[in-house]
This record gives sequence, C-alpha cells and structure tokens, in this order.
Amino acid sequence: MRNARSIQNLLVAIILPLCISTQFNAQASSSQTDGLQFKYLGAAGWEISDGNIVVLIDPYISRLKYTDRGHPDDERRAFKRDDRAISDEALIDKTISRADFILVHHSHFDHLGDVPYIAMKTGAKVIGTETTMAILRAYGIPDEQLYAVGGGEDYQFENFSVRVVPSIHSALNEKHYIDSRRYNRDTKLKAPLRINQFIEGGSLMFLARFVNHDVLTMGSMNFVERELQGLNPDILLAGINGSRMGLYEYDRRLVEVTGRPATIIPTHWDSFSHPYSFSQEANVTSKLHPFVDTVKTLSPESQVIIPVHLEPFVVE
Ligand SMILES: [Zn+2]
Repeated sequence: MRNARSIQNLLVAIILPLCISTQFNAQASSSQTDGLQFKYLGAAGWEISDGNIVVLIDPYISRLKYTDRGHPDDERRAFKRDDRAISDEALIDKTISRADFILVHHSHFDHLGDVPYIAMKTGAKVIGTETTMAILRAYGIPDEQLYAVGGGEDYQFENFSVRVVPSIHSALNEKHYIDSRRYNRDTKLKAPLRINQFIEGGSLMFLARFVNHDVLTMGSMNFVERELQGLNPDILLAGINGSRMGLYEYDRRLVEVTGRPATIIPTHWDSFSHPYSFSQEANVTSKLHPFVDTVKTLSPESQVIIPVHLEPFVVE
C-alpha cells in the first residue's frame, strides 16, 4: 500500500515539476498566486480553489462499501442499493472545511450522496439539475442555496462564472443503459433516501471559469461532442474509466474537441467503494498509464496529471 502510494507520488512529482506550491493557502482572502489548487476527493469529486473561492465538484467522501463491490480487507458495513443512504459525517468534517459553490454533474449517489450534508454544513451554492435540487430540498437545503439548471446557462457570480454544458451519462451495462426518470418540485421524497433513489436525473458538464484558468469538468465517461466545440479549456477533468472503451474513439474525440488542453487530469477512475487508505495502483496501471501514452500521441504538448487522493497540487 505504502509502495503504491509512493509510486503515485513519484509520478505526480515527475509530471508536475515545480508545480506544487507549499506556499498556497486556500483560505487566503486575496489571491497570492496565479495557480489553481486541486484536491482529488475520489470518484468524480474535486476541491478546486484559486485562493479566493472554493468550488467542490461532485464531492463524495463517504465511499460506502457495497455488498457487490467491497474490498475483502474493508471491515466497514456493506450497503445494498435499497438501504437507506448515510454520509460519513466525521470523515467529511475532516476532509472539507469550506465551500462556496458545489457543482453536481448528476444525481447518482457517488456524485450527490454527500452533498446534502456538505451543503448544509458550508452554506454553499449548489448548481445542478432539477432532480438534484429535488433531492436537496428533501434534505432541507434552503431554496436560496439552490440553482436548478438544464444545460446552456452561463452564470456570472462574484469572482467566478460557470457555463452549464448539456451532457450524457456513461454508457453503463455494455451500452444497455438509459434512465429517463426525473424528479421535480412535485415529487414526494423523504430523507434519508435509499441509495437507489439517487437516480441519474440527467447529466451535465461545467466550464468553471476562475481568475486565471478555465476548467472543463466531467462526471461521466461520455459527452456531446458539439456542446464542447469552442470551449477551449486550459484544464480538462477527463472522465477516464472502463466504460469509455465501448465508445467510438473517445480519447481522440475528447482531446481534439476540447482543443488539446494544456493540462488534462483523469477523473472518476478510482475504486470508489474502497476507503481512501486502500491502494488504487491497479487502476493507475490499467487505466491511467495507457491514457498518458495516448495523450502523448494525440497532444504531445499537454501534461497529464495523475492525482492522488486528498493530496493537493497546483496548476500554474
Ligand atoms: Zn452515474
């Protein structure tokens, strides 16, 4: 375990020379750096800060163990999909101290499951689909915090703007996946929900514009190509997991349509039902190393950063 972590650290150190700033202070009231600090929370989850604001993307900290995909060394309780959902509030409190915005790609539990607790605790503004909002309302999050979007909105906030990009979910179940269910204000939901009541509810991507960087975020291994034309982010959180292999030239189309971003960071590639302390080396080797090689061919100027859970790094 320790070895795997140090190999990952070494990779980050090789790929990210001089990018790690020990001076960076996410709590600072004014920006001291041009860089953007990232912390990978696992699954599709991120904490991103420019030194002024803290934005969370699909923050999923609890990493519940499921009966069908637990690790044999994980001694925590195993959940079935029709069990009542819980959040690991102690672990969230240790991991997340502040948030100004939470962007939610879709409403599956590994994206939205911890947002009710985090939104309540931080008072963050949450941007997501109407289904996401219906679930958050059931947990008592006040309307003032909720921004329901459908895709196409481009909202300016103080020091931050976000364009909402229509998207589609990963082609799960060997492409036999579609879920057209939606929640709205009339849907009767009673918290705490069961895990399988966290339905997809439609999928989004976000172009999150910070002072010095435009970050295009993904929460799935899929995208609507025409919706990404002309966005030209300099940082791409690229959905890199197995289900993309069944899509037509996914890596090439994604890297090309996004304008060969200067920095590409794989997301949603880990085993998110295993605790943070467990090794992700098998995923790094089987999914990320081949992707790094692919990007070298498709876009030699791009740097690919392999993130390590909860270890902050800065993109200058
Ligand atoms: Zn999902």
